[in-house]
Amino acid sequence: MDYRILRIALDTPLDSEFDYRWIVSDKNAALPQPGQFVLVPFGRREIVGCILSIHDSTDVPSDKLRDVIAVRSQLSPLSTTWIALCRFAADYYQRPIGEVVLPACPKNLRALKTTALDKALKKTALQLPDASAQAPPKPHLNQEQQFAVETLTASQEFSTSLLFGVTGSGKTEVYLHAAERILKQAAEQAMPAQILILVPEINLTPQLEQNVRTRFPHVIVATLHSQLAEGERTQQWLLAHQGQAAIVLGTRLAVLASLPHLKFIVIDEEHDPSYKQQEGLRYSARDLAIWRAHQLNIPIVLGSATPSIESWQAAAVGRYKKLELKQRAASNAVLPKVGVIDMERNKAQQGLTAPLIEAIRSRLEKEEQSLLFLNRRGYAPVIHCDACGWISQCRRCTAFMVFHKPDRKLRCHHCSAEQRIPSACPTCGNTDLQPLGRGTQRVEEQLQELFPQARILRIDADSTRKKGSAQAAFDAVHRGDVDILLGTQMVAKGHDFQRLTLVGVINPDTALFSQDYRASERLFAQLMQVAGRAGRAAKTETGNESVVLIQTRYPTHPLYQAVLKHDYPGFALATLSDRQSAGLPPFAYQALLRAEAKELKLAIEFLENAKNLLAHEQISFNDPVPLTVMRVAGLERAQLLLESQSRAQLQSFLKTWMQSLRALKSRVRWTLEVDPLDI
Ligand code: ADP
Ligand code: ZN
Ligand code: ZN
Repeated sequence: MDYRILRIALDTPLDSEFDYRWIVSDKNAALPQPGQFVLVPFGRREIVGCILSIHDSTDVPSDKLRDVIAVRSQLSPLSTTWIALCRFAADYYQRPIGEVVLPACPKNLRALKTTALDKALKKTALQLPDASAQAPPKPHLNQEQQFAVETLTASQEFSTSLLFGVTGSGKTEVYLHAAERILKQAAEQAMPAQILILVPEINLTPQLEQNVRTRFPHVIVATLHSQLAEGERTQQWLLAHQGQAAIVLGTRLAVLASLPHLKFIVIDEEHDPSYKQQEGLRYSARDLAIWRAHQLNIPIVLGSATPSIESWQAAAVGRYKKLELKQRAASNAVLPKVGVIDMERNKAQQGLTAPLIEAIRSRLEKEEQSLLFLNRRGYAPVIHCDACGWISQCRRCTAFMVFHKPDRKLRCHHCSAEQRIPSACPTCGNTDLQPLGRGTQRVEEQLQELFPQARILRIDADSTRKKGSAQAAFDAVHRGDVDILLGTQMVAKGHDFQRLTLVGVINPDTALFSQDYRASERLFAQLMQVAGRAGRAAKTETGNESVVLIQTRYPTHPLYQAVLKHDYPGFALATLSDRQSAGLPPFAYQALLRAEAKELKLAIEFLENAKNLLAHEQISFNDPVPLTVMRVAGLERAQLLLESQSRAQLQSFLKTWMQSLRALKSRVRWTLEVDPLDI
């Protein structure tokens, strides 16, 4: 009997590679190929997997070896290059390959029935680009932009470029021009080409999607992000996989899309933390994209006004090419003036200081928009009782329950537990419970009192729960139906508000003293980004200059001083020198083992064991410590941080260490994260 052994990736816990047998019944029939999906028996179930490789023999004893049920030959196979990318991701992040390969593909490919897949295949087969469509005129690039485009497209070989350009400097134009040129070059050589553009959050960058679609009306643009319905996601994925889409725009998950003709990658806002997946395969889409570009020997560009410290360092040592856009691109648009308001001298009432209130008033008089940024949603982070000291603590977490006024609830932002506001103190019966601190809802209330005539809009996760509501809210701002926009980091990104001339930052100080060494990098990026919302257009008719006002108790803090001067390089230099003397990334490589258990003691014990399992000269272990928010949803959590000067050493250590950890068969739940972002 003639047969082949198919090594198949399944999305099953722990082990995820299994050998199955394929009996060759008909010599003339096509053999299965790597990258094809197959239906196989697994235990008493049937599941769908993906062929990784094909062999003549296996170590699995023949009485244990089971037969493949069916091959899904309607779908063209994923390439072996793509499988190699998944293999790398699985190895690097220490996860089973099935957990990479299968979740990277739409669910309909893995469904037992192929109805949905067949339908999507039929639909996409009919899609053709509209070759006759005319692209609108595009702006004439300035010299810096021109140089960036030339450099990015000069060679078709691998190189990583860092496009460092202040907000509004026209980075998007650079991506679009480079993309256009690469597609044109390929067309001239009659070669198919695809371009991957990654953005942090599709919701917050609708303008980019719009721009891409209008600028490239004659090609198919596919979009991939987690908010697509399954049918839609399957179609978009197929357009990419079948090579029909010349441009694929997506969030982090798109880095694992099947792109047979990939020629160029763009990572917009490369510093954004949402490129890091925070569960399952905890990958960095930016890092995987660079690996992918290297694998395919194609160019990649990372763009940002506030690059990640890692990327900045890579450019400083020449690993990346640095391309700079120093000025705002639109004619007359200038960077806003940044000032600090010293809160020791200007006492805030309800969170707002007199100079900030004055600045808002002056914008209202001139019919210009103001944006207020406060990175804390809800009404107040906690309520308390003055009489006995009771505070609204979550029962299941080491965190406070946040007061949400519109629905009169207390809500835990860690475990989502909810309860009604108690009418009296649960401990002493006092009916006068007080909110402490302030979130966006409370500031909104204050603004309504101060400016009863103004049209005020709050945008945060609570106000935009309904699908499409964020988009509607941003549209209202663009239309000019809003005088004062108030929100969390959701309002900081991407948007280009033409009538916005004031940005107020309400309470950024807490991040200055965080235990997390990346908190200041994140704060700096956020401030620069939110500041970048102002002064996008030329000076307004009324002559108001765009300003950014930061309320702080620490006006002389170097971080704010750097923001005042729009001095990212200065900030980065200081940060790098701190990191170097503390031996932190990018001067060291880290991995984090997290454990959770009913009792903290058990989690710590497990981590102590883990620490003592295996010694290695070039790996240093910190002590196991509880997480800052130690208990969430009744489970207590701790972590163990490992560091090494050498990425390769850390990688090889992790591999053996993981095997020993699994062999412990501990009942404590644990996860390993490579290159963690939040510590
Ligand atoms: P960034 O992505 O760097 O923040 P954008 O690409 O959004 O900046 O550009 C900011 C604004 O400048 C946009 O309105 C864009 O249309 C405009 N712009 C970009 N390049 C040019 C140019 N060369 N000439 C005129 N306007 C430009
Ligand atoms: Zn009380
Ligand atoms: Zn909770």
